[in-house]
Amino acid sequence: MKIAVIGAGAMGSLFGGLLTEAGREVWLLDVWEDHVKTLNEDGLAIEREGVTRVVRPEATTDPSAIGKADLVIVFVKSTQTKAASETVARMMRPDGRVLTLQNGMGNADILAEAVDPASVLAGTTSHGATLLGPGKIRHAGVGPTRIGPWAGGDRAAAESVAGVLSGAGIDTEVAENVHALVWHKLFINVGINAITALTGIKNGEILDLDVTRELSRNAVEEAMAVARARGVPVAEDVVEHVFQVAGATAANRSSMGQDVDNRRLTEISAINGAVVREARVCGVDTPVNETLTALVETLQGHYGERRDKKG
Ligand code: NAD
Repeated sequence: MKIAVIGAGAMGSLFGGLLTEAGREVWLLDVWEDHVKTLNEDGLAIEREGVTRVVRPEATTDPSAIGKADLVIVFVKSTQTKAASETVARMMRPDGRVLTLQNGMGNADILAEAVDPASVLAGTTSHGATLLGPGKIRHAGVGPTRIGPWAGGDRAAAESVAGVLSGAGIDTEVAENVHALVWHKLFINVGINAITALTGIKNGEILDLDVTRELSRNAVEEAMAVARARGVPVAEDVVEHVFQVAGATAANRSSMGQDVDNRRLTEISAINGAVVREARVCGVDTPVNETLTALVETLQGHYGERRDKKG
């Protein structure tokens, strides 16, 4: 089985590295030339709890070097999913599968437009990783991964891919309702990411002031209303769960916070922006998510400008 990972940043390198260690044939595909050069010359360094080990997946910037893959795992940021989907369409075997574990809403739909929708698997992962530099990542957190067919595919393919991932130490279950799963991960990102990105605070600081808690609660409750209107089963205690996650990751800057700190394009369009888009389809009002989306888009739209500009 040939596995290609498109987007070999923090998470793509982590999954690709673990699958390589498990003896799988893995190709990492990335547009970042320095990273790919380092991977080929020195291997992939994975730091975990202060210990670093090196694994040697194949790496390239050229999709044609990989040939046809049986399983394609997409780990680009959601801003790049459309571009990646065109590569998936070219490199996946006709009976192959593509898996997205990206954050946000819309990634699986974009893939389903590029390939046979029944071949798309989606899900969520609680593993966490940080890119430390070219060829080097930190495996920051371990947790369950859940996947399932997104648009009518069969459960057997999901079971098979779950087996491959679990065999590499990525404990993976097949979910009954993968749409609900992706929405529930979205609720967490909706409640934490934009607020921390706009204010510079850490995840746990969302809980410090009533005004910030209410902002997070309102954003999440809007998203819950949209999900329910779209027919997705939603638990009652979602806001409490979002607050628990903020507390459990208190010292972290969210990924969107880190993107803003480093003046990178954020995943706002696939997170709060996706809530707004989905809301329009079902006629639900989402003023808080509209405002958070507009503010993050404004912020990232002015990265290039001098902050001390007069007038
Ligand atoms: P990252 O920025 O570290 O990696 C993305 C990689 O994609 C980069 O190396 C970039 O060069 C590459 N890339 C961009 N366009 C490409 C293209 N067209 N073809 C090939 N490669 C391309 O991002 P990440 O932190 O690994 O996150 C990836 C996804 O996983 C995001 O949706 C994120 O929200 C989600 N996620 C991240 C974590 C985490 O702990 N980092 C955890 C769960 C989910």
